[in-house]
This record gives sequence, C-alpha cells and structure tokens, in this order.
Amino acid sequence: MTHPLPTDDWVLARRPPRNAVAADRPYAFLVEPEPAADGRLVDVATLFLSNRECPFRCVMCDLWKNTLAESVAPGQIPEQIRWALAQLPAAHHLKLYNAGSFFDPRAVPPADYAAIARLAAPFERVVVECHPRLVGRRCFEFQALLAGQFEVAMGLETVHPDVLPRLNKGMTLADFTRAAADLRAAGAAVRAFILVRPPFLTDAEGLEWAKRSLDFAFAAGAECCSLIPTRAGNGAMEELAAQGHFAPPSLDAVEAAFEYGLGLRAGRVFVDLWDIGTPGADAARVARLGRMNLSQKVEAP
Ligand code: SF4
Repeated sequence: MTHPLPTDDWVLARRPPRNAVAADRPYAFLVEPEPAADGRLVDVATLFLSNRECPFRCVMCDLWKNTLAESVAPGQIPEQIRWALAQLPAAHHLKLYNAGSFFDPRAVPPADYAAIARLAAPFERVVVECHPRLVGRRCFEFQALLAGQFEVAMGLETVHPDVLPRLNKGMTLADFTRAAADLRAAGAAVRAFILVRPPFLTDAEGLEWAKRSLDFAFAAGAECCSLIPTRAGNGAMEELAAQGHFAPPSLDAVEAAFEYGLGLRAGRVFVDLWDIGTPGADAARVARLGRMNLSQKVEAP
C-alpha cells in the first residue's frame, strides 16, 4: 500500500463547504420499516440531529456536511426531538443519529440526557451512534435513564489491518471489541457499520474484507450489521480516486457482501441503499436489495 497515512489536516484541506443546518431542528427525519431482532417488521423513526461535528476526521466520512461548527445550547437537542416527533407518525423504535458520537459531550450535552430519555420513553428501543472510544461512563448513564432497550451503532468500517489505520478513524479492532463487550455486558445491543470497498482496495478485495468484517462484527457480539457502499463526495475521497486509490464498489460486490451476511444467519444484515438507489439499468437489482433488507432472506436474482 503506497499511499501515506491520511492525517486530520490532509482530510480537512480537501473539504467542500458544509451545508447550513439549524441548531433547533434536525436536518432530516423519517419513519421507515425495519425488521426487528425478534422478526417483527417495525416502524423506526430516524432523526438526524443537528449538532457540533464529530472530532474524528475519517477519510471516507461525509457526515460532517450536516453539522455545526459550535456546540448546540442545552435544550436544543430535546427541542429537535420534540419537534420532529410531532411531525412523524407513531413508530416502535427511535434512532437518534447525530453524524458523530451521541456520547461526545460537545455534540449532545449530557445535561440533556434526562430530557432526551423522557422523549424516548414511548419507544421500545432507542438506537444511537457512537465511536467505540467514546463508549464509556456517559453511555451507561444514559442507558440507565431509558425505559426501553438500548442499542449503540458503531463504525467497525473494515478489519483490513492496513486499511483501518488509513481511514484515520483513530480506532483499533481492540477498541471496537472492548466497546462491544462493555455494551453487551450492560445489556445493550450493538449494531456495526461496515464499508463495502473502502479506499485502497480493489473491488474483489473490498468484497472479501466486507465478508471478514461481518464475521468479526458478529463474533464481537453485534446483533446486526449495516453494509455501507463506500461513496465519494467529501473531497478526500475524490482525491484518492484521482490517485487511483478509491472507486466505489460494484453492485455485484454489494450484492455478494449482503448475500454472504444474510447467509451467516448470525444476526440481521442491512445494506444502505441511500446512495446507490439510482434509477436506470440497476433499478431492479437495487429494488431486490431493498426487499431483502425487509425480509432478511436472499431472493433469487
Ligand atoms: S467517527 Fe463517524 S462521524 Fe466521526 S468522522 Fe468518523 S465516520 Fe464520521
């Protein structure tokens, strides 16, 4: 692997401008069906909270585009949740995604945990996302306030030993394993995000390492895994692409990774279709993946 380790400065220097988001409104919110751990198809309300950007500078991340440069004031995250829930139909589960780590105190003020937990009380399950190194005391203090099941989604990204450090995520596999074990010991569920074809890999390697990452995540105690086709759009990935170090995964690779994951029968597996749902020749193949997300069964192509 010839590319040097990307640094925070290298990633930051390549960014396009961020989008304008308001501190008192989530930047997106929706309800969509998802199969639950017990096999039921449930409605999940997902709120994309506006807050201060993540302190990490992962080379493939574009989530910072919908974040703020400064911390929100105490009370603004509960206000975002209250406002969005009033717009949405009832749902069984609640995902509070914040384009970073829910337990980064500069993103979500800990003083708001109790108010957030009260707003989440009607939901059977609450899912937040967090970098494995920020799974600690604050995480379990929040869990103690919840009425329902707690789930933490963490980016495993890839278990490739040379690529993971090059993602500039500031995380080792031991960090992920430790966080997953701590969460499981506390009775929380774990969801893992896995990249299909991160940078620095060919399409075939990207598929192979997505499979190994699924194996690793389930062995570490993940209850479900979400496959993310790696995308460009943050500046750094465009530069890596220009240097020949990145191309998005083929639909063949995404399909094969998903079919492998479902075939493990180790837990639920989803594929993120938000950025590959382009109409045209592939529309029928993408629609099949969407049905498989819901059924958790491999459909004949
Ligand atoms: S930890 Fe997550 S949110 Fe933060 S930069 Fe990395 S991928 Fe983006």
